[in-house]
Amino acid sequence: MAESIKGLKRTKRCAEFTEGDIGKEVVVMGWVERSRNKGSLIFTDVRDRSGLIQVVFDEATTDKAVFEKAKELKFEYVVAVRGVVQKRSDINEKLKTGTIEVIPSELRILSTSDVLPFPIEDEIPTREELRLEYRYLDLRRRPLQENLMLRSKVTVLTRKFLSDEGFIEIETPTFCKSTPEGARDYLVPSRVNPGCFYALPQSPQLYKQLLMVSGMDRYFQLARCYRDEDLRADRQPEFTQIDMELSFVDIEDVIDVNSRFLKYLFKEVLNYDLELPIQRMKWIDAMNDYGSDKPDTRFGLKLKDVTGVVKDCGFGVFTNAVQDGGVVKGLCVKGQAAMPRKKIDALVDYAKDYGAKGLAYLSIEEDGSFKSSFSKFMTEDELKNLVNAMGGEKGDLLLFAADKKKVVWAVLGALRLKLGEELGLIDEKKFNFLWVTEFPLFEFSEEENRLVAMHHPFTMVMDEDVDAFFKNPENCRAKAYDIVLNGNEIGGGSIRIHQPEIQERMFEVLGFTKEKAHEQFGFLLDAFKYGVPPHGGLAYGLDRVVMLMAHAKSIREVIAFPKTKDASCLMVKTPSVVDEKQLKELSIKVDIQKQGS
Ligand code: ASP
Repeated sequence: MAESIKGLKRTKRCAEFTEGDIGKEVVVMGWVERSRNKGSLIFTDVRDRSGLIQVVFDEATTDKAVFEKAKELKFEYVVAVRGVVQKRSDINEKLKTGTIEVIPSELRILSTSDVLPFPIEDEIPTREELRLEYRYLDLRRRPLQENLMLRSKVTVLTRKFLSDEGFIEIETPTFCKSTPEGARDYLVPSRVNPGCFYALPQSPQLYKQLLMVSGMDRYFQLARCYRDEDLRADRQPEFTQIDMELSFVDIEDVIDVNSRFLKYLFKEVLNYDLELPIQRMKWIDAMNDYGSDKPDTRFGLKLKDVTGVVKDCGFGVFTNAVQDGGVVKGLCVKGQAAMPRKKIDALVDYAKDYGAKGLAYLSIEEDGSFKSSFSKFMTEDELKNLVNAMGGEKGDLLLFAADKKKVVWAVLGALRLKLGEELGLIDEKKFNFLWVTEFPLFEFSEEENRLVAMHHPFTMVMDEDVDAFFKNPENCRAKAYDIVLNGNEIGGGSIRIHQPEIQERMFEVLGFTKEKAHEQFGFLLDAFKYGVPPHGGLAYGLDRVVMLMAHAKSIREVIAFPKTKDASCLMVKTPSVVDEKQLKELSIKVDIQKQGS
């Protein structure tokens, strides 16, 4: 039977013992990482979140009953050991407590453990589904424990920095109003208002703007947000933002406090010196040079525009794209002229996944001649001009995409990242931060056949573009900014519209009637009638920030209880069917055929 803890008090965590404790009587508590029975000696490693310490049961000197009990120890039993710390003869340099051990006088088995579904080891080759089902066991592993401790450090330091900068932490509701702009909402039915629903917040955007109207001046929150999206890539249906809003500010003020925040965080958590100012790049330059609005600037391999060079050449793929209003751009891959055909074909297939019809390529051989998929369509001079424009040298491989600008950006942007990774061009130790600014205010949605807000409908137009905003707004730039780290967008925000006539025009451009705008955002528009300070803010994806700091592969590695791609939790088995009675109370009828019926 599991024994009681009565009368025992843990001295400290396992790996907190040091040589300074030698000779002292201590109490150690934790899980049995492993217990090796060597006959007359039993070596037991006791582990907790700090690490582990070795306990040695010696048949010759240990109390007989204690020794007998030690023989029963198995993986993950929870034990308490009273004993004396002594210096170890066989030093283990890999362990924090590798120079000491505990010589026990008492052993209690506080809890036993069944055979585990997988061993608790740092790297385990186990299916992720199984690990998620037993997440509480997965969380005993060192890397995950370290990630969660790092996450805690980040949140504590965030609170400290922002409080010291005059931000106040305010909680906003999680039962909000559904607003169709943006991603799909998670809905919560109201029992007392049958047929009515709350929406879980996609972000505290409107509340934080209202707090500025209230005069709170600077707000922050570690806000849980919910977005019902198809979970491509590395997304979670619920995630955490470090959300903030500031009054009486313009772009520079938000960038300044956030640059200092990042410097502080990376210094305190990782002892990394982030040099200020952080590099900046206009959105249009990011797209033209990197084919991405979140460029990974740890390596070059920039896109080069050769539209002007090839517009009159003999290669129809290029000239047709230009005639259709598109562009021709290329990548100059250094030293890869000898890339095997098979590998090039794989790149072409990859490019097709991003919408390319194909990829044209040219390699510059060591003797200076060209080998190319399109040389027969071009004169020697045309080819030379193209190679020069690309900065191509002997031994280089040139890859080209010709299409609409958006497609070319997407294709070469993706290819650039793939090549950067495959050719080992990325220095994994680097943290390259980048502010991307001057985003377009709108983008055209083919699906809805109208302009939609690229950030959100409350984002201010750039001062220089205010006139255009009232005449032909398509190409206006926004007072929006993203903070990018190693090719990941870790945060984004904007200066908000605080002038009613600009907000009204915004809704007009987005195709909202006055009534519809009022129905959805009336409370905000009304609030703005009573004195609103100029304001702006930003939100970080906390999970992503921590993932990058921890060098983890996925945000699932830095979230205690993550969901799978289909938004379910394999451990508690949710979402799940609920009782008829519950549905009835909520006046909800489910229109799904039961499986098999
Ligand atoms: N609420 C915005 C977002 O979630 C961030 C911001 O504009 O502050 O992307």
